[in-house]
Amino acid sequence: MERVSRTVSEIGSEHLDKTSPNLNWVCPRCRAVLVKAPESYLCEACAGNYPIVAEMPDFRIDQPAWIDFGRDRDRACAIDEIVRREGLEAAIFDVFKTSRRFAEAKCRFRTRQVQAGADKYTLQLGGWLADIQAEPVFEVGIGPGQLAVALARRGYVPHGIDVSMEWLAVAKHWVREQGVEPVFAGAMAEGLPLPDASVRSYVSLDVIEHVGDQGRYLAEMARILKPGGHFALVTPNRYSLSPEPHVGVWGVGYLPRSLQGRWVQMRAGVSYDFNRLLGVRELRQLFRDNGALVPQIDFPAIAEAEILLFPPGKARFARLYNRIARTSLFRLLAPLGGAYYRVTGRKPDELAAAE
Ligand SMILES: [Zn+2]
Repeated sequence: MERVSRTVSEIGSEHLDKTSPNLNWVCPRCRAVLVKAPESYLCEACAGNYPIVAEMPDFRIDQPAWIDFGRDRDRACAIDEIVRREGLEAAIFDVFKTSRRFAEAKCRFRTRQVQAGADKYTLQLGGWLADIQAEPVFEVGIGPGQLAVALARRGYVPHGIDVSMEWLAVAKHWVREQGVEPVFAGAMAEGLPLPDASVRSYVSLDVIEHVGDQGRYLAEMARILKPGGHFALVTPNRYSLSPEPHVGVWGVGYLPRSLQGRWVQMRAGVSYDFNRLLGVRELRQLFRDNGALVPQIDFPAIAEAEILLFPPGKARFARLYNRIARTSLFRLLAPLGGAYYRVTGRKPDELAAAE
């Protein structure tokens, strides 16, 4: 006769977590338990009221950010409509065209880049991201959902937040195409709607350089991680020998911060607000000051799968960079010129510390 109940050790704790991630949203301001009403989440402790937008709660708090929340809510609903009418690809294209106001060709290029991102992260989950696969996996900065889709393809339920609900709406539909229902919310990395010690994996790719308060971002990461949990971040190096990746201007990072905005405005004619790239020493200091987790820094070569998506000039530069990246001198000097770096680590285990 078949047994209907099995013990945790028979099933394996990892498998149990996988089927019931058991992650509940809390108030991002006071962390009290929330009551779900038809059109919002309510906090009885602080009277917070968080609307549900495009089927996802909007827990964004009053913090400086690079987008207008009201407009972003309208855009999230518009994306739902575009996906229904014209499909996912048209919706991704529309974000670049309508919100970023990119030229037609650049919209097509960036749309392809987003779509290829899921394969890129599927590869990385088998490599340097192998440690962040204990559930619940929480991603800060979902964006259009490339990593979330890669996780869904591996049978995970993606959990996470983004400050842009327009991108979250794209990500939601893309994950659903994989046959998985994601758990997403609009929120700020500086005020996460999660209880202390609630996730076993925290991943946040290309985000720390854009948040308004980098110290609070790291403190929140340390807060929500369970003891023994792993984190993984990626960020461009402030002191890179290649052009600043967001604005394509050389030498930005070597200038004092007070001059960076003016230099970028002069050379590229765009704003440099909400771009604050960190050098390795600055990042280590921020970690020490906010949550005291110990980061491990690694300067990787650029993956061939990514280079294939670059325009020819940038691809040549990337291949040259990779040749240099294999030398031992590079490993020594990488913090002074490497393009970007990975930051990984683990929150100390309380039990191990007590022994
Ligand atoms: Zn509250």
